[in-house]
Amino acid sequence: MELYKDNQLKIYNSLSKSKELFKPVTEGRVGMYVCGPTVYSNVHLGNVRTFMSFDMVFRYLLHLGYKVRYVRNITDAGHLENDADEGEDRISKRARLEEIEPMEVVQRYTVDFHETVAEYNFLPPSIEPTATGHIVEQIEMIHEIMAKGFAYEVNGSVYFDVLKYNESSHYGILSGRKMEDAIHNSRALDGQSDKKNPQDFALWKKADERHIMRWPSPWSDGFPGWHLECSVMSTKYLGEQFDIHGGGMDLKFPHHECEIAQSHTCSGKQPVNYWMHANMLLLNGQKMAKSTGNFVLPKEIITGDNSVLSKAFAPSVVRFFNMQAQYRSILDFASDALEASEKGYNKLMEAVNSLDNIEANKTSTFDVASWRQQCYAAMNDDFNTPILIAHLFEAVKVINQIKENKASLNAEDLESFKATIHAFVFDVLGLTNETKQNGSDKIDGVVELLIKLRKEARDNKDWALSDQIRDELIALGIQLKDGREGTTFSIN
Ligand code: AMP
Ligand code: ZN
Repeated sequence: MELYKDNQLKIYNSLSKSKELFKPVTEGRVGMYVCGPTVYSNVHLGNVRTFMSFDMVFRYLLHLGYKVRYVRNITDAGHLENDADEGEDRISKRARLEEIEPMEVVQRYTVDFHETVAEYNFLPPSIEPTATGHIVEQIEMIHEIMAKGFAYEVNGSVYFDVLKYNESSHYGILSGRKMEDAIHNSRALDGQSDKKNPQDFALWKKADERHIMRWPSPWSDGFPGWHLECSVMSTKYLGEQFDIHGGGMDLKFPHHECEIAQSHTCSGKQPVNYWMHANMLLLNGQKMAKSTGNFVLPKEIITGDNSVLSKAFAPSVVRFFNMQAQYRSILDFASDALEASEKGYNKLMEAVNSLDNIEANKTSTFDVASWRQQCYAAMNDDFNTPILIAHLFEAVKVINQIKENKASLNAEDLESFKATIHAFVFDVLGLTNETKQNGSDKIDGVVELLIKLRKEARDNKDWALSDQIRDELIALGIQLKDGREGTTFSIN
C-alpha cells in the first residue's frame, strides 16, 4: 500500500536546521545511507541507540510503502584514534596489541555487531558495504578530487585542501564550524604535520612501518582517510544526490562535513537532501563512549551481567526505552528508567495480547479513525515516537475499557484498531512480544482453562470451588473480571 501518498512526512534536516516536508528524489523510492560501526571493539549501547533510531526510520519508510535502499557500512579501515587524522588506525592498533591479524579483529567485531542487531530485532540494511572492499573506488575518488585541484600530495599522503574549497563553497555548511575552529589535529599546530593547513584532512595516508593495514596506490603503500569511504560508498550505491544520510550527532564534524566537501567537489552537487542526526545516549550524565570506559554493552543488559543495572532486561524493553525518547533528544540510561519502561512495555503487551479475545459490537464508542490519524501525525512529525507511544497507551485504555464492557467497537473499527496497533507496535517500533516468548501465552491458556472450570463449577452451583479458583488466582496476582461477554483476566 502506498500510504506515503496520504502522509506528509516532515524530517528535521540538520543542514537547514528546520523541519522540511520529505520529498524523495524519485517518487516512491528512498535512498538512505547511515554511517555504520567501526569494528575494532564491541558496539556499546550508545551506538545501538543511534542505529536503532535509523532502524525505526527505515521501518516507518517501509511501512509507508516506499521502496527503500538502505546502505549501512562497516568501517574496517581508516578510522584513526580520536577521530583525528594523525595517529594509529583503531583496528590496526587492536590487532597489534592482541597479536592477531587486523581482519581477525574485523571479523570478530562484525560478527558481534550482527549478533547484537539480531538480538535487538533490527531489520538488515539492503547493502552493508565495507571500506576495505572499496579501496579501488576510494583511490579513484582521490584522483578525481586531485584532478579538480582540491587535493595535494606530500610525502606519499594526500590531503584535501579545505581553504581552497572554502573559496568557492562553504566548508562548515553542516556543522556551522568557523574555519579557525575546523582544525583536525593538534600535531599540525606543532608544525609536525605534512599538511599545508591544519583544517586540511587526509584522503590517503602513507603507512608507517607499524601500520599493518596497507594497500598500494600511486602515492604510497597506505590506507584511505576515514571520511572518504562514506562519500565513495554512498555515491556508488545511491547516486550523486540521494535522500537521507544519517549518523550520530558527534559525526557532524568532522566526518559529515568532510563527506560533503569530497562529494560536492566531485559532482558539483549537494550530495544529501536530508541530513539526520541522532542524539547521544548518556550514562552517569556523560556520553556513553568506549574511550572513557563509560559504557554498557547490549549483551550485558540481556544477561544482567553489568554493574549499572539492578537486573537483566529483555531487548524489547531496551528498544521501548529508546523509543520513549525522540531520536533528537538526549537520553539518560539508568536502572530506574529501564524498570519504568519495563512496566510500560508489559502493560502494552498485555493489552496487545488481549486484542485477540476482543469481539466486535454493534456500535463504536471510540473514534478509531481520528486516533489512527494521530498515530500517523506523530510519526510524520519527524518520527516522534514518544507521542506515538502516548497514542498507543490511549488504545491500551480503550482495550481495558472494552474488557470491562465500558467501551465497544464495531467490526470495521475493531479491524482497523487491531491492524493499526500491530503495525505501529511491531512493524514500526520493532518491538517483539517477549511476554509471549517467555511462556506467557501458555499462562494465558492455563488461566483460560481455570476460567472455564470455574464457569462449570458455577453452573453446578459449586460456589466453594468457584470462589477457591478466583481467590487462589488473586493470590497469584491474577484478577478475574466477570462481564456481560464472559470472564476476562489481568495479570499484575
Ligand atoms: P563508531 O563505531 O564510533 O563510528 O560509532 C557508530 C555510531 O554510534 C555513530 O553514528 C556514532 O555517532 C554513534 N554513537 C557513538 N556514541 C554514541 C552515544 N553515546 N549515543 C548515541 N550514539 C552514539
Ligand atoms: Zn560515515
